[in-house]
Amino acid sequence: MNTGSWKHRKAFQKRLSAWYDRSHRPLPWRKTNDPYRIWVSEIMLQQTQVNTAVDYYERFFERFPTVELLASAEPDQVMKSWEGLGYYSRARNLHKAARLVVQEGTGIPDTAQELMRLPGIGRYTAGAIASIAFGRRTAVLDGNVIRVLTRLFHVTDNVSSNSVRERLWNMADGLLPETRVDRFNQALMELGALVCRPRPECSECPVSDFCEARKLGIQTELPVKPPRRAVPHVEVTAGIIWRDKRHCLITLRPPHGLLGGLWEFPGGKREGDEPLDKCLIREIREELAVEVEPVKRFCIVNHAYSHFRITLHVFHCHFEGGTIQCRGVDDFRWVTVKDLDRYAFPAADRKIIDRLRNEGGYP
Ligand code: SF4
Repeated sequence: MNTGSWKHRKAFQKRLSAWYDRSHRPLPWRKTNDPYRIWVSEIMLQQTQVNTAVDYYERFFERFPTVELLASAEPDQVMKSWEGLGYYSRARNLHKAARLVVQEGTGIPDTAQELMRLPGIGRYTAGAIASIAFGRRTAVLDGNVIRVLTRLFHVTDNVSSNSVRERLWNMADGLLPETRVDRFNQALMELGALVCRPRPECSECPVSDFCEARKLGIQTELPVKPPRRAVPHVEVTAGIIWRDKRHCLITLRPPHGLLGGLWEFPGGKREGDEPLDKCLIREIREELAVEVEPVKRFCIVNHAYSHFRITLHVFHCHFEGGTIQCRGVDDFRWVTVKDLDRYAFPAADRKIIDRLRNEGGYP
């Protein structure tokens, strides 16, 4: 389908844009066209529900009101402001990109092509920033737009395939109006978020007359996606290692990979049916080159990450002495329970901290 020559193109643009003017949610990033704010909001929204992102958005700009202040912040400060949002590589990349922008001194790039040079900005995010902040005539294609387009134009191929994605990009591109692309792109995404949801409200849809899937009654069968994989489950141990009755040990994960740049209670993955206390002793020896003695089970925390679930077995431990070496971690600190709030932790470790605080710290 060549949407650029589609006979309903103009009517579709008009209907959709008018609906957006009437019905869009008054979200904070829609009250501005400041490229820095649009950029941060798009990064936050990549993997996060709108309501959650709203809270973080406001707090983020209280902390880092300009790209220069973000660039000059310490990585720990940026991670702390992202704590709880998940997908922490977004924060690391945003920070790196801010430093690059400030270092180059030419401002936030204003085309999708230039934006894609920055860490953490892919084709969708580049299109969103370029069109919304700079009014560039650039398409966007996120999960919402994919759902709308596959239904409107009856695309029955698997949307995970690169060639189908490319076709959808071309469709989104062909639909763009000559002006107010910012409004049009946001309208297409908003339609997917509010009306053309996985269970669509077709009776509320401003463009239902044009929709092929609706005519055929197969809306809920589209888009076609690959079958979901089973989510793996991992058992992990963690130690609250006490040097004395006040200070326990936290370690910093390496900057790359899962939960990179966050602090945690040290420990690691159980191998086979290894006894849990032995697993903890082994992991601490491997990562920090010191000995600990697990003395008391503290709690079990279950947590679901995007691609796997963990059960975390937590022990109070005695530090048996020695010199800590950062073999599998980037850094370490001896901290009081009160100090823990100054550091950014993954959600599972936050659950341990809440419980530790409720129970008064040292056992
Ligand atoms: Fe989506 Fe229904 Fe509108 Fe078609 S008519 S675009 S399926 S909400």
